[in-house]
Amino acid sequence: MNSKEYIEEAERDLLHAYNRYQIVLDRGEGVFLYDTEGKKYLDFVAGIAVFALGYGNREYNDALKSQIDKLIHTSNYYYNVPAIEAARKLKQASRMDRVFFTNSGAEAVEGAIKAARKYAYKKDGRRDHEIIAMNRSFHGRTMGALSVTGNPKYREPFEPMIGHIKFAELNDFESVERQVTDRTCGIILEPVQGEGGLRPAREDFLRRLRKLCDERDILLIFDEIQCGMGRTGTMYAWQRYDVKPDIMTTAKALGCGVPVGAFLMTEKIAVNSLEAGDHGTTYGGNPLVAAAVEKVLDLFEKHHIIEHVGEAAPYLEKELDELAARYDCILERRGMGLMQGLVFDRPVKDIIDKALEKGLILINAGTNIIRFVPPLIVTNHNIDEMISILDDCIRS
Ligand SMILES: *Cc1c(COP(=O)(O)O)cnc(C)c1O
Repeated sequence: MNSKEYIEEAERDLLHAYNRYQIVLDRGEGVFLYDTEGKKYLDFVAGIAVFALGYGNREYNDALKSQIDKLIHTSNYYYNVPAIEAARKLKQASRMDRVFFTNSGAEAVEGAIKAARKYAYKKDGRRDHEIIAMNRSFHGRTMGALSVTGNPKYREPFEPMIGHIKFAELNDFESVERQVTDRTCGIILEPVQGEGGLRPAREDFLRRLRKLCDERDILLIFDEIQCGMGRTGTMYAWQRYDVKPDIMTTAKALGCGVPVGAFLMTEKIAVNSLEAGDHGTTYGGNPLVAAAVEKVLDLFEKHHIIEHVGEAAPYLEKELDELAARYDCILERRGMGLMQGLVFDRPVKDIIDKALEKGLILINAGTNIIRFVPPLIVTNHNIDEMISILDDCIRS
């Protein structure tokens, strides 16, 4: 079949839940993808901030292959060695104390919400605890995660949401403080908002939230699903601010392509929230995905991925700033590390379509923002190539 026939069949069989770009991706190599027609693309999306190590990493692929031959799944009624080793390494990387593996980001958020509610329930037995979330946040598409997602367009068709969620403004401490009551059990936010527009939280905002949470015994929950795993220049974004959450979620680059996420917590929360029987998952942390997590964390160290981000990110920022300065239609660059956005005064769909034609994969964040979340192994040369294609696309 040629790609046109594949696409026609896909549109007959798959639920039309996405407006997909009209290419069929076939294989990858480093920061490049190839479609079924053999056309090569420079990839600045990485499967939405997932494939940090680049495609076709030999050591990663071999680790998965050998785990497939050994054991893929056990259920969580039994222990398995890859999950134990992945948990140890993830604890070290995250500086948190306890790990629960999930199958996705949204499920990690679900777990975080349950843990926060259970912590408060164990304290006072009430069943009306509240969570404060941020406007323009994104936490996933399942009902709990959607309930704390600050985008009414995503929520409305599926209401009623889970109850007792309140929204405040990122970087406006008073707006959060106004929503706090004696029933508030958690405050959830992304240290750097992703889908909502590449907005970093300010350090003083996070510090004041931490203080508020300490004073009122409210749990501070950071969703690091997109901004975590080295993308902003530290393993997790909060480590740059040095404002530690009580509960943290991670996914996307955690398994570099296998479906895995996790929520983590400090020991204090772990012993005072979810207990045996409170939460579970059939697949979560199975030997296959755990082997991937373990290998990803190994390779981050071995190939000095964080240090590399520290060098590549300032170059990307500088190049994007220079591009922004050349065009009146670009209002602003914002983001952190290798998680950047260019804000335009108009919809960016045409530019992204044109870039795809020219062999560059980009993605939007909302209608007016182009998002840059390349594999973390991206080089200055790749950045130059991306800028040159993008420049052409904007100009025409
Ligand atoms: C992608 C994302 C999610 C949802 O993860 P899924 O794996 O798609 O369920 C949640 N939070 C943030 C910040 C994300 O970027």
